[in-house]
Amino acid sequence: AKREGGGCSVAYAPTLEVNSSRLLMLEDELEQALEQGEIIAHYQPQLDLQKGALYGMEALARWQHPRLGLLGPDHFIPLAERRAMIRRIGARMLELSLAQIAQWDVQGHAVPKVAVNACALELNPGYLEMVLRTLKKYGLAPQRLEIEITESVLCPDGEMAVGVLRALRNAGVQIAVDDFGSGYSSLGQLRKLPLSTLKIDRSFVSEIVNNRADCTIVDAVVKMAHSLGLHTVAEGAETAQQLGVLKQLGCDAVQGYVHARPMAALACSAWLDERTAA
Ligand code: C2E
Ligand code: CA
Ligand code: CA
Ligand code: CA
Repeated sequence: AKREGGGCSVAYAPTLEVNSSRLLMLEDELEQALEQGEIIAHYQPQLDLQKGALYGMEALARWQHPRLGLLGPDHFIPLAERRAMIRRIGARMLELSLAQIAQWDVQGHAVPKVAVNACALELNPGYLEMVLRTLKKYGLAPQRLEIEITESVLCPDGEMAVGVLRALRNAGVQIAVDDFGSGYSSLGQLRKLPLSTLKIDRSFVSEIVNNRADCTIVDAVVKMAHSLGLHTVAEGAETAQQLGVLKQLGCDAVQGYVHARPMAALACSAWLDERTAA
């Protein structure tokens, strides 16, 4: 909230100053954090709604900060995107995620795929080359990796990004569009992208039980996605009721607190162990 003028700004200004100086401080530290391995991945399971089987894991960036503790992506991803440092974070997340799924294979956990986030800025020929090289390094089929992008790659100067996505898709890597419905593009426009999966934004899922319009929209999105040959993953389901509606609507998979929160690698392996034992 922005407050201007009057007595309010006097009370509010110090907080603003603290926040912006903290941001500057983090900017300096981020470079070092990468080198010291403080940027780590947490993993959140996605479950097949119809069969209950594990569908995949999304890797989510965290900064294990020595003084401030565990920081979520909102604290450093926007910062990194401004400074193109996002490419190095993306490379690190890719390396961690593929190493992890290979390790889960060794441990006997069949994790079908791991999904990593990428922004338009990262999608250049170097990214393509890095993805293929890292898949090879861990002996993984390209289908085990999904790249999550947002509709923003459809921006006027996103041509290179779209080209890189096509090449990735041709190589067998899966492509998901993230937060679907929260942006401005239609499914028609999205057909320009070589997609495999559509992730339905949490804002629709959170109201799906009580809001008829949201339910109708999700129904239509699932039907259209399926007729285009795309899978659907609903984001941010928190209740069993929401799961029930999503299942009825024929959604393929769900990622949300109702199943599990994002977990550190070790906790995630324990979660997998428990499922296998059950
Ligand atoms: P996202 O890709 O939409 O990721 C899903 C976010 O929803 C995650 O927040 C996750 O913790 C949260 N979430 C999952 N299930 C639930 C639920 O049931 N309820 C609620 N309320 N929230 C849920 P997180 O980890 O804070 O990530 C925020 C965003 O940061 C991500 O949104 C993604 O856009 C970005 N991000 C994370 N990691 C990376 C990365 O490695 N690279 C890039 N470029 N962006 C990243
Ligand atoms: Ca995502
Ligand atoms: Ca999302
Ligand atoms: Ca989101």
